[in-house]
Amino acid sequence: MSKKPDFKKYGFIPQRQPGLLLMRLRNRAGNITAADLCKVAELAERFGTGKVHVTIRQGMEIPGVKEEQFEEARQAVLAAGLLPAVCGLRIRPVVACPGTNTCPYGLVNTEALAARLDAEFVGRDLPAKTKFAVSGCANACTKPQAHDIGFRGAAEPVVDHELCVKCGACVKRCPAQAMAIDNETLAIDYDQCLACGVCVRLCPKQALKTGRVGYHIFAGGKGGRYPNDAALIATFVAEEEVIPYLEAILAVYQELADKGQRLSMVMARHGAAAIAAQVEKVAAAAE
Ligand code: SF4
Ligand code: SF4
Ligand code: SF4
Repeated sequence: MSKKPDFKKYGFIPQRQPGLLLMRLRNRAGNITAADLCKVAELAERFGTGKVHVTIRQGMEIPGVKEEQFEEARQAVLAAGLLPAVCGLRIRPVVACPGTNTCPYGLVNTEALAARLDAEFVGRDLPAKTKFAVSGCANACTKPQAHDIGFRGAAEPVVDHELCVKCGACVKRCPAQAMAIDNETLAIDYDQCLACGVCVRLCPKQALKTGRVGYHIFAGGKGGRYPNDAALIATFVAEEEVIPYLEAILAVYQELADKGQRLSMVMARHGAAAIAAQVEKVAAAAE
C-alpha cells in the first residue's frame, strides 16, 4: 500500500470518518472578498458536502473531501487563487484584528503586519505547532497572550504639562489606574500603563501626545488542555523591527526546543527573563 501524503502540511485534516478530509483554507487578517467567497462555495459543492465551517482562528474548512481527491482539491484551491491552510509542526495561519483599518481603537496597522507574517512565516517547519496573533490595541481581541507569539499594538502617552489643565478626565477613564494628579501635576505610572491610547483620545485639551508606537510582543502563550498566559518580552517594537525580532525569537526557540515542545515549555524550563535576554542578544547580533 502506498504511503499517504502529509495531508496536514497542505491544510487537510483527516476526519473521524475514514477516507474523508477537512480541507482548510486560510486568509489574511480574517478578510476574504465576495468573489473569493463564491470560489470557496464552488469548492465546497465540488469536493465537499456543500457546507463550509468557519474555524475559531478565522479560517474556513470544507468537510467531506475524499482522500482520493486530495491532490485534485489541493490544485483547485491554488488555481482559484485561494490560500490553503497549514497544520502540523509548523507556523500556522495568523489571526489578526482590523486595527487601524476600521477599528476606532486601533493603534497600529495590524493587517499590514499580518500580511507580512503570512507571506514570510506561515508554513515554516518548527519543533512544534506555533501560532501567531496580532491585535491592534490593549483590548487584545485576538488573544495575543494566548498564542505562542502575540503582537499587541501599543501607543505611549506623554503629558504636555503646558497644555494640561488638570481636569482629571483622563485619571477617571484610565482602565489601568495608571494616572494620578499629585501636587497639581498629572503623572503616569508607566509600569501600570497599558499603552491603550484611551487618555490621548479623550483629553479635551490635547495635552496628551503619543510617544512611542509599536507592538508589545508576548511569547509562550497557548490554549488547549493546559492553557498558559504568554510573557511580555518586548515593548514598543516598531513595525519595521518586528520581523527581525520575531526571527530572533524563533532562532532561540529552535535552538532550545526538543521536537514537539512548544515555546511555552521552553520558557517554563528556562524562564521568561532568560529567554527575553537571549532573544535580545540574537536580535542585536543580527543588526
Ligand atoms: S484589539 Fe483593539 S484594534 Fe483590534 S479589534 Fe479589538 S478593539 Fe479594535
Ligand atoms: S484630560 Fe487632559 S487636561 Fe485633563 S488632566 Fe488629563 S491630560 Fe490634563
Ligand atoms: S494609555 Fe491607557 S493605560 Fe496608559 S495612562 Fe493612558 S489610559 Fe491609562
